[in-house]
Amino acid sequence: MKILLLGSGGREHALAWAIAASPMLGRLFCAPGNAGIAGLAECVSLDIADHGTVAAFCKVEGIDLVVVGPETPLVAGIVDDLAQSGIRAFGPSRAAARLEGSKGFMKDICARYGIPTAASARFGDLDSVLAHVAVHGAPVVVKADGLAAGKGVTVAATMAEAEAAVRDIFSGRFGEAGAQVLIEDFLEGEEVSFFALCDGRTALPLATAQDHKRAFDGDKGPNTGGMGAFSPAPALTEELTARVMREIIDPTLAAMRDMGSPFTGVLFAGLMLTPSGPSLLEYNVRFGDPECQVLMLRLKDDLLTLLQGAVDGTLDKMSVRWWPDAALTVVLAANGYPGAYETGSVIGGLEAAAAVPGVEIFHAGTRREGDRILSNGGRVLNVAALGKTVAGARASAYEAVALIDWPQGFCRSDIGGRAAAREKA
Ligand code: AMP
Repeated sequence: MKILLLGSGGREHALAWAIAASPMLGRLFCAPGNAGIAGLAECVSLDIADHGTVAAFCKVEGIDLVVVGPETPLVAGIVDDLAQSGIRAFGPSRAAARLEGSKGFMKDICARYGIPTAASARFGDLDSVLAHVAVHGAPVVVKADGLAAGKGVTVAATMAEAEAAVRDIFSGRFGEAGAQVLIEDFLEGEEVSFFALCDGRTALPLATAQDHKRAFDGDKGPNTGGMGAFSPAPALTEELTARVMREIIDPTLAAMRDMGSPFTGVLFAGLMLTPSGPSLLEYNVRFGDPECQVLMLRLKDDLLTLLQGAVDGTLDKMSVRWWPDAALTVVLAANGYPGAYETGSVIGGLEAAAAVPGVEIFHAGTRREGDRILSNGGRVLNVAALGKTVAGARASAYEAVALIDWPQGFCRSDIGGRAAAREKA
């Protein structure tokens, strides 16, 4: 098969790594890719926001399947546009991608189908939202309605913080995504990421993971795209997994079908495990980044077979197997991220780090210049490892991190720390 993978992050490097291992693969292209992906795929500098250009490339190269990594092209309808040109793509249609593209849309489905989620209200103007917050009180969660790269959510402990977050969203910083604001009840519990592979009718639960969204150790600092992750998430027992499928994933699939927009692709539920059960925080319509990196390390079955099954609607005849080992990834980000940061600094020690047993390095914002690897984004590298336990994977990942020479970057030192301590207990 000839595959075109779209994206340039750590998630796409991990997907490229798993696709490259498939016996079904003929040729792998990636647009635009990064310095790490270039070792596995032919990187092409297509503008993936221009769907016509992507379709034309697919026709010329005879691409059998397009795999879409990030959410932006999905929400913009790339799967529909490719389908119109007769090109098969893995991922949801524009209509189905609204599960991620609009938090209000997701909340409406939850209300109609009885899916557990935090109570919320949606507003389009500053005065009514401030009046609502004044009555609601703190703590409260303030969210921009649309896509904001994981940065449109504030968990406000005080009224002042809530008001500042509302004003920030209405300041226009998020463009159209900030046209409406959601005010949501604060939920307490443990947060987990749940993934299901869907073909419109059937959902296969994939592995579970936990990520670390805050920038600094001890869950301090601003929310980021994700600073590290591990899999499996010990909090999600088999019984809870079955409950999530029954109460959250299956009704969502039914809702999308009833609406005439069946969901195909990866449905990624951000869940809070509250004392009264799992509650849906958000939907994403693609693999998480960095969760994908740890899932791909643990996947035993052929990824291309599974992606094809989702596109062909044959998941009811399939199952997914995982290595029993744990996987963990530490994200290295440029100093300043998620705020302003510089690019173009040299990263050394990558070969030594990759030579640590069990370690895989997945690039995110990197580019090659001659024989040097330079930083080229906010999140720059994922140092990932497999181990018998989370503690084992963690030790290997941090051993490799210590070998990387990049003074212009930072990482958290406590990824998987609590899970590893729990294993000992
Ligand atoms: P979201 O993008 O909606 O998942 O929100 C980003 C992060 O904010 C989540 O991963 C949670 O850590 C936190 N969060 C979102 N909604 C809530 C809520 N209702 N209660 C507590 N924390 C929340």
